[in-house]
Amino acid sequence: YLAVNNAMPWFGMDIGGTLCKLVYFEPKDITRDELDSEIEILRNIRKYLTKHSAYGKTGHRDMHLQLDNVPLRGRRGTLHFIRFPTCEMGNFLALAKSKGMATLVTTVSATGGGAYKFENDFRKEVNLKLAKFDEFDSLISGIQYIDTHNPNECYYWANPTEMEKCSKSSYDFSNPYPFLLVNIGSGVSILAVYGPNNYKRVTGTSIGGGTFLGLCCLLTGCNTFEEAIELAAGGDNTNVDKLVRDIYGGDYERFGLPGDLVASSFSAVCSFGQMNSREKRSKVSREDLARATLVTITNNIGSIARMCALQEHIDRVVFIGNFLRVNPISMKMLAYAMDYWSNGTMKALFLEHEGYFGAVGCLLRFNG
Ligand code: ADP
Repeated sequence: YLAVNNAMPWFGMDIGGTLCKLVYFEPKDITRDELDSEIEILRNIRKYLTKHSAYGKTGHRDMHLQLDNVPLRGRRGTLHFIRFPTCEMGNFLALAKSKGMATLVTTVSATGGGAYKFENDFRKEVNLKLAKFDEFDSLISGIQYIDTHNPNECYYWANPTEMEKCSKSSYDFSNPYPFLLVNIGSGVSILAVYGPNNYKRVTGTSIGGGTFLGLCCLLTGCNTFEEAIELAAGGDNTNVDKLVRDIYGGDYERFGLPGDLVASSFSAVCSFGQMNSREKRSKVSREDLARATLVTITNNIGSIARMCALQEHIDRVVFIGNFLRVNPISMKMLAYAMDYWSNGTMKALFLEHEGYFGAVGCLLRFNG
C-alpha cells in the first residue's frame, strides 16, 4: 500500500469549460525510509510544484489558498491549488511529460467535461489513465471536506445594503444543511443540497461567467478576466442601463421598486431624448460597458438563485465558481439582492476556495 501511495503524486483534477483546476496533496509526514525509497521523478515533481508559483506561460498556483497540516487518507500534508486555462491542455501535457510523468504508469482522478474530452490525450501523451468522477458529487464532497478542515472557509458580506459599510465576515457553516449551491463557472448550475449524499440539480443557465467574459471582450476589446473586472470596477452601469427612475421619474412605489433599480439592462444607449443614440453611445466608456455587463449577468444569476431558494424552501444560498474570483462587486451585489428581495430572510454565503471544490472532491477519491 505504501509503495502504491508512493508511486504517484496525489492529484485531483477538474477540467472545466474555461479553467482546469488541479489540487495537489504534498505529504509532510514522510518518514526517512519513505524518502529514501521515493522515486526520483516523484521527488522532482513534488519540488517543481511546491517551489514554483507559475508553471509554463499560463499556469498559476493560488498560494493564498494553500491549506497546511490537513489530513488525507491517513496522512498529513499541504494542499496546493493550481489552475490554468483549459485551452492550454496541450502545453500542460507537454510540460507534464517533460517532468517525467509518463514514466509513472498510473491513474489520476478527474472530473468536469474535460475528463471525457481529453481522456485519450492523457493516455497518449503522459501514459495516464483518468479515473472519472461525477462533477456534482465531487463538488459537494469537496465543499464538505474543505469546510471541515478550514475554520475560515465560509463568509458573508455584512451590511450589503450599504456599499460603504459592506464588509467580509466569517460565517459558522458547521451545520450546513440544507443549502442551495450556485456554481458560477462558464455556465451556471444550481443544486439543492439536503445532506452529504442527498442533493439534486434544480436548474442551470447558460448565462454565466463565460457569458460575462465573452460579452465584455466583444464590447470593450479587453482580453482577460482580470482586465474585465478591473474595467468594471471603474465604470458606472447607469450610463448604459435604463433605471426605474428613468421611466418613472422616481420610485415605482406601489410595487416597491426603487428608482435606482435597473429596469432594462443596456437600454439607455438606444433611447433618444435630447441626444441621438449615436451621441449617447459615444458618452459611454469601456468601463461603463464592462460594469453594465457584470451587473446584467450577476443580477440575472441572483434572480434565478432566489427563485430556486423560494421553490426549495431553503434560506442559505452558497455561491461558488471562478466567476467570483477577484470579483467583490458581484459578491456584494448577490449579497444585496438576496437580502433585499427576501426582506432579510435569505442569506448569500461564499467560500474561499470558490473554484476548487470539484478538484478537491476528486482528490478525496484518489485511490493510489
Ligand atoms: P469552468 O469549470 O466552467 O471552467 P470555473 O468555475 O473555472 O468554470 O469558472 C470559469 C469562469 O471564471 C470564467 O468564465 C470567468 O468568468 C471566470 N474567471 C476567473 N478567473 C479567470 C481566468 N484567469 N481566466 C478565465 N476566466 C476566469
